[in-house]
Amino acid sequence: MVGGIPQATAELAWRVHPKGTDEMRVRDALGPLFADEDFMAGAFAGMYSERGQPGLSPALLAMVTVLQFLHRLSDRDAVAAMADRISWKYLLGLDIGAAGCDASVLCEFRARLAESGRADALFDVMIARLREAGLVRARGRARTDSTHVLGAVRVLNRIELVGESVRCALEEIAALSPGLLAGLLDAGWAERYGRRVELARLLGRGSSKSSADKLARQIAGDGAALLGAIDADPVARWMQMLPTVVLVREIWQQQVQADGKGGWRLKDADQLAPSAARIHSPHDPEVRYSTKGRGQDDDLEWVGAKVHLTESCDEDLPRLITDVHTTPATDPDVTATGPIQAKLTARDLPPAEHLMDAGYPSAENMTNAADAGIALIAPITARNGRNAKTGLFTPYDFEVDWQAGCARCPAGATSRSMRPDKRGLVTFAFSRRDCVPCDQRGTCTRAALPMVRRLTVPEQPVHQAVLAARADQDSEQWKTLYNKRAGIEGTISQAVRGPDLRHARYRGLAKTHTQNVFTAIAINIARLGAHYDKPTPPRRPTSVSTLCHNLGLTPV
Ligand code: SF4
Repeated sequence: MVGGIPQATAELAWRVHPKGTDEMRVRDALGPLFADEDFMAGAFAGMYSERGQPGLSPALLAMVTVLQFLHRLSDRDAVAAMADRISWKYLLGLDIGAAGCDASVLCEFRARLAESGRADALFDVMIARLREAGLVRARGRARTDSTHVLGAVRVLNRIELVGESVRCALEEIAALSPGLLAGLLDAGWAERYGRRVELARLLGRGSSKSSADKLARQIAGDGAALLGAIDADPVARWMQMLPTVVLVREIWQQQVQADGKGGWRLKDADQLAPSAARIHSPHDPEVRYSTKGRGQDDDLEWVGAKVHLTESCDEDLPRLITDVHTTPATDPDVTATGPIQAKLTARDLPPAEHLMDAGYPSAENMTNAADAGIALIAPITARNGRNAKTGLFTPYDFEVDWQAGCARCPAGATSRSMRPDKRGLVTFAFSRRDCVPCDQRGTCTRAALPMVRRLTVPEQPVHQAVLAARADQDSEQWKTLYNKRAGIEGTISQAVRGPDLRHARYRGLAKTHTQNVFTAIAINIARLGAHYDKPTPPRRPTSVSTLCHNLGLTPV
């Protein structure tokens, strides 16, 4: 357990750091951040064997891991700092002569936390401490934004992907049952799979498209031969269940097909699985390829995950991160709005105002937030959707008269029918009499004649809520409030420059999320350290500034 601060540790810490450090100030203000009892129930049940005590206090390990991320250290450096740094010993309540622990303990601890939503439970514990201390509160103001996280894997092209997946399977089989491979391997396999698969090594720099295509066919054939050998040998059936073999089969389904001449080749690009399902590395099958931008050449492309950070931004309280939400890179921001608000509500921290950028709101999200008493402050843009992107009239260009059950188009025509559906949408259809001869048809619909324009909008309450939100966002008051959203960019910047939020240290979405949670707790510690520090004295004016002031050129 994390105990009180030994006197010798306290004396030395204050002698070495007379002004204190973030760790020391937080320890004095809030006490130990975690207790071993926190790790005994709920999501933590089963984290440790019920027989005997955990080897090291989980509360202590959690705090060491937070400090590790705060100072961006490796596991080895973190356990060394645990023995060396007096400010760490102060926070951890360690004796001055206490040694560190084996670095592998931190790795095992993280692996346990990555299971069964325990990382979120750990964050819940931290938030509960902050709420008890009055540092965060319900019905305040929150803001959210997302950023990319690069996976902890090499980015592979398609030939390297299939080749590397075969190599991983060969490595595992060669270690477990090399006999199966004896009939398959030859000098070509040794060259291709003896080391990691890289086009530059196998083809040399500046290789031609035809040589790359030949290699792709060769590797596709190798993988098919390997899977065929495993399936054909009744004694080797158990190998079908090996994770690397399962992965090869999955990658082959996504990437490879018979060429119709008895061989194999890579599929054409338009035959590939959607991005959300496509595997990009055998070393981390959960990383996904995504892009961010406006469809220009300078769009950001990455392979990895995405993280959404939410922080409180009440005027009278420190800005503290209150939620961390990690998703596959391909998940659009709009799908995160509901889960983030649900988690804030479960932590008893539902905001009264939630500031987000234009990627998060949708008609459904706005009404769900309103039902939960949350005002979703986000720009509603008409420039989404196929019609808007191609310059056609958007639903906001039409007037809906819910009482009369009809819609009026920009040309002044009235719809002839209104049909609600099970998806919660309502479709208004216009008549051929109006649409066929209409001189605005070119900016209204791309449907071929004599098809008519159909307008589909959400049901009345949702549609009206969206219209009201759009009307609000033209006011100066709304703009002033929305300007406060920009502060979350600084938080993401702090997390990127400090704990290196944008580079996953570990593989797999669960471990990446655990890293992101520790990053958020570390940022909170740094901010609380600053919050409990003495206020910084105002900057001394420059000589020129003083002179200008004395000459009456600048206001007092
Ligand atoms: S095409 Fe039909 S719906 Fe569109 S503006 Fe013309 S009349 Fe109205």
